[in-house]
Amino acid sequence: MDQHNHSSKPKVPELTAAEKLFVETQNQCALCGSALQITVETYLEDYYLREEAECPVCNVKTRVKNHKMH
Ligand SMILES: [Zn+2]
Repeated sequence: MDQHNHSSKPKVPELTAAEKLFVETQNQCALCGSALQITVETYLEDYYLREEAECPVCNVKTRVKNHKMH
């Protein structure tokens, strides 16, 4: 077995101001107006940003988005 896991991992950039704004401006539930719980995950390998917004009141996921980062 080759355990040579030595490849340099890409650095993940922080969210840009525009991306933060994007998240912050869409953090209300369209149904009840409550603040959504936003979950943002980054996938280091392919530079994807996965965003989930869930309303704790309605208990629905209002959206899941994948952003491609460069
Ligand atoms: Zn709601």
